[in-house]
Amino acid sequence: MAVRGGMVWLLVGLLAVPGLASATPSRLTIVTSFYPVYLATLNVARGVPGVSVVNLTGPQTGCLHDYQLTPSDLKKLEQASLFVVNGAGMESFLDKVIKRLPGLKIVEASRGIPLLKNASDGEENPHVWVSITNAIQQVRNIGEQLAGLDPTHAKQYRANAGRYVRKLEALRQKMHQALAGLRHREMVTFHEAFPYFAKEFNLRVVAVIEREPGSEPSARDLAQTIELVKRTKSKVLFTEPQYSAKAAAVIARETKARLYTLDPVVTGPADPDAYLHIMEQNLKTLQEALR
Ligand SMILES: [Zn+2]
Repeated sequence: MAVRGGMVWLLVGLLAVPGLASATPSRLTIVTSFYPVYLATLNVARGVPGVSVVNLTGPQTGCLHDYQLTPSDLKKLEQASLFVVNGAGMESFLDKVIKRLPGLKIVEASRGIPLLKNASDGEENPHVWVSITNAIQQVRNIGEQLAGLDPTHAKQYRANAGRYVRKLEALRQKMHQALAGLRHREMVTFHEAFPYFAKEFNLRVVAVIEREPGSEPSARDLAQTIELVKRTKSKVLFTEPQYSAKAAAVIARETKARLYTLDPVVTGPADPDAYLHIMEQNLKTLQEALR
């Protein structure tokens, strides 16, 4: 009886403390648009009490080019406190979300990052996170914007962002050292995901086989790419785990180039360290392919 009485008193005591009482019911649900932004936000919000991070799209969705929002996506967004997006034109459905949910606060990860234009169509390229320097800027942006929107936990967001940025900086340095001495620097890739990465590590994307998933190249496109690969004398092709390797296999056969897989970090496990692991694997692949 004495113990039970004590418990009740303790609970009443907890509820009476304003900070604790308000922190528990007012849960903050952060929705992220897709995988790379999800990973960055998982790190920034790690261990912050009452905050949950939910990814809008499935772990196998990949890039959001031409993605159409589903009714269940809209339901998730209606329940969200904040929506973290890549920006830079990746979420083509963003205008629709803003119109439909004008009160939803939006965190833009790519704010202030200079954008590159595609050689093929002159459009701004949204794959900024594939450069580690840009990924660092995205983590800082998310940290600062979450701190502003949820000031109670500002210190924690900033500390988490700082801790993750240091891991990314160490990875960047390691990759710079490992890739600096490679003999070959030319890449043929499967979609326009690698220009920021190539720029960062002084590599050159000489041809892109298929601009986006779902658009198989025509016979004419294939023939042109085969000619281009032959002209560049590139001995390696980089496909991606997210895409059908059919076109790449044809080109590899016709040009006698070897086929490797580079991962632009758009699908994978819900592991805060997944970006680091995937980039480590990309490093091994590049060392093997371009030596
Ligand atoms: Zn893409």
